[in-house]
Amino acid sequence: MEDCNIIVVFLFGISIGSFLNVIIHRVPKEESIVFPASHCPKCNESLKWYHNIPLFSWIFLRGKCAFCKENKSFSATPNGMSLLMEFCGLYSI
Ligand SMILES: [Zn+2]
Repeated sequence: MEDCNIIVVFLFGISIGSFLNVIIHRVPKEESIVFPASHCPKCNESLKWYHNIPLFSWIFLRGKCAFCKENKSFSATPNGMSLLMEFCGLYSI
């Protein structure tokens, strides 16, 4: 049961981290957090759902855009990872 709980905490933490990154990048530009869908800032291609799975897609795509192969600036990854670690740390208390 403990293993199952840590997986749920992991998925929840990484999802919240990903969502907060959307807010961090869009709100200062006064863009909607809903529309347009996630897209590459360089080639402007809309990402497919499977390009948008937090952390796993980044690993699978090796940190590059699926269309133009531009390296993603991953300020998003440290933000997401730090939040994830905070969630796991809080869970272990
Ligand atoms: Zn691109």
